[in-house]
Amino acid sequence: MKKIQSLCNYCAIDCNLDFYVEDNHIMAVKPTKGYPVNDGFCCIKGLSLDKQQTVVDKPHTPRVRMEDGTYQYPGWDYTFNYIAKRFREIQEKYGNEALAGISTGQLTLEEFAINGHIMRDHLHTNVDGNTRLCMASAVVAHKQEYGFDAPGFTLEDLELSDTIILVGANPVVAHPIVWDRIRKNQNKKLIVIDSRKSETAKNADYFYPIKTKMDSTLFYGLANYFIEKDWIDHEFINQHVNRFDEYKEFVKDFPLEQVSKDTHLSMEQLLELVELIHSGKRVSMWWTMGINQSHNAVRAAQSIMNLQLILGNYGKPGTGGNSITGQCNAMGSRLFSNQSSLYGHEFTDSDSRKKIADIFHCDERILAEGPTKTYDQIIDGINDGTIKALWILCTNPRHSWTNNETFRQAMEKLEFYVVQDIYDDIESAENYDVFLPAVSGIKKEGTYVNLERRLSRLVSVIEPDEDEKNDYQIMYGIAKALGLQDIIDYWKTPEDCFNLLKEVSRNRPFDITGVDFRGLENSHGIQWPFKEGEELKEDQRRLYSDGKFFYPDQKAVLQFEPVPKNPMPQTEQFPYIFNTGRGSVGQWHTQSRTREVQFIENVSLHHPYIYIHTKLAKEMGLKHEDWVTLDSCNGQSADFAVRITDDVQEDEIFCPMHYIECNKLTASVYDPYSKEPSYKSAVVNLRVKER
Ligand code: SF4
Repeated sequence: MKKIQSLCNYCAIDCNLDFYVEDNHIMAVKPTKGYPVNDGFCCIKGLSLDKQQTVVDKPHTPRVRMEDGTYQYPGWDYTFNYIAKRFREIQEKYGNEALAGISTGQLTLEEFAINGHIMRDHLHTNVDGNTRLCMASAVVAHKQEYGFDAPGFTLEDLELSDTIILVGANPVVAHPIVWDRIRKNQNKKLIVIDSRKSETAKNADYFYPIKTKMDSTLFYGLANYFIEKDWIDHEFINQHVNRFDEYKEFVKDFPLEQVSKDTHLSMEQLLELVELIHSGKRVSMWWTMGINQSHNAVRAAQSIMNLQLILGNYGKPGTGGNSITGQCNAMGSRLFSNQSSLYGHEFTDSDSRKKIADIFHCDERILAEGPTKTYDQIIDGINDGTIKALWILCTNPRHSWTNNETFRQAMEKLEFYVVQDIYDDIESAENYDVFLPAVSGIKKEGTYVNLERRLSRLVSVIEPDEDEKNDYQIMYGIAKALGLQDIIDYWKTPEDCFNLLKEVSRNRPFDITGVDFRGLENSHGIQWPFKEGEELKEDQRRLYSDGKFFYPDQKAVLQFEPVPKNPMPQTEQFPYIFNTGRGSVGQWHTQSRTREVQFIENVSLHHPYIYIHTKLAKEMGLKHEDWVTLDSCNGQSADFAVRITDDVQEDEIFCPMHYIECNKLTASVYDPYSKEPSYKSAVVNLRVKER
């Protein structure tokens, strides 16, 4: 039996796993011992990756809707040529931007790059990813605050911190490895700030049940208090931080008494929190979707980073203002998808354009000139008739897009709709013109970057069948059909692509010129940057230990502004806040993959459900598993079974996101800078379901 080390391509941890393979069949999966991320531990999703060896083999070849309306299997070459012809026809008839794409955070680095090069450079159109739905706010927050999207922590910081503050994060369910590493730290105080008493909050030493979306108010108030008390790090601020004097004036508008009223945290709670932070020697703050998915997400994330900067809690072991990423290669997408940056460069910088054109052997003038239209603009563009063709890859927006009925409407309006996925029965795979079946991650090669900037190798664990193709091969096939000569000549394999991307990264903050594609196999992974000639001395490498950020003067810049009004206030008509999030460790997003795992299916509910507070249940005369109808401020209604708990606030309803009904009720409201949807604060009414 062979042992092959590869990675789990579900969440942003990128656990490494040992696959035991005999006769091209996975016999067992075990977490890799000694791997610095997950060292012999992983969750049920990774352990169940062997299930995808059998389910992804139907159909092997593309399905195309013919002129007579029937679906047929005309083979890969025909399909690539057909797609290329239809893309060109639509662009000629309606303009380049009449074609668009939506991808994911789940592809390999190389797949992001080739897709970005085809769509954004050669076809001069837009492609956004479902990373917009989870990490865009952190990306913008980092760029504005540090001068580059460079989260500085290493996961070991969770074990080195004496005061860990989680804000809007529930790692017990969403990031089990993060939780495992917190548990291993025996010398920490764990503090959770969340509107809901989540599974993590129940295991915390201190829990602060904040009013939803009041995070920036809290952190501005804390900053003001620390400044008033002069409990800040003047030396660090003077040497490494800009705009402090402005910030000091700004936060004066957030006295603790007012913060207490706005956040619904008592003065005693606030003063206790202040004392915990002040007495900590190695204080780290970590946030995820509770912050990122908000109408005020970027500024909320920055309010956390601001506080850590003025306290000097950066660059030292166990510190930082740290964002926990969602998907397995969200970090790779951020650098190489050519969506929000030109492969990690400024779109308008002429030296960067020349450098990339030279590396890619293409004409500099074809390179994209600005960031992509955002996800919401693409859906709106389809619905208003300006976008006519859509290619979705490895994503399920009919389920996961906010206010998801707008995507259903969009699907009906498209003239040409291409779905590329490992499953042909996801909710978004309806009424398509072409379905492109891609093999799952266990049958392909590439690289991923995890939440702490660690590159790791996806290794083909079992051989694909003769007629199967992976995402990279599908994209390469389309590029060939389009006649894109530079891709045909220089991007033949993921390894070719990786070597191009290494050159692209040269002398940038994410320089990976010292990383070898093959050398990553059976390794401990490598955190960027890792330059050519550099010696890898340790497995845990954090940024900012020299206090140098990425602006020209190497200082971080505090970012802040008055807290905007909540665009979805509670009203008499819609009195409850509709909070959403992950329901269980086993369920992944829209469940298209995890539904294949019998164990997860056995312990998951198969109908949509919500948690409501005991008091509300009593008022409405509701019992466990009674059905209710929720009416949302977005004009939609959906039915849910009820679960009764004291873990949500009295005016809050929590809905696990794994059921399509959840995002039927979320709203078309976005952070103004990141355009990430505010998934967690639509307002709804609740009615007992009519029978
Ligand atoms: S889902 Fe995340 S935590 Fe679970 S095995 Fe995969 S990478 Fe590890």
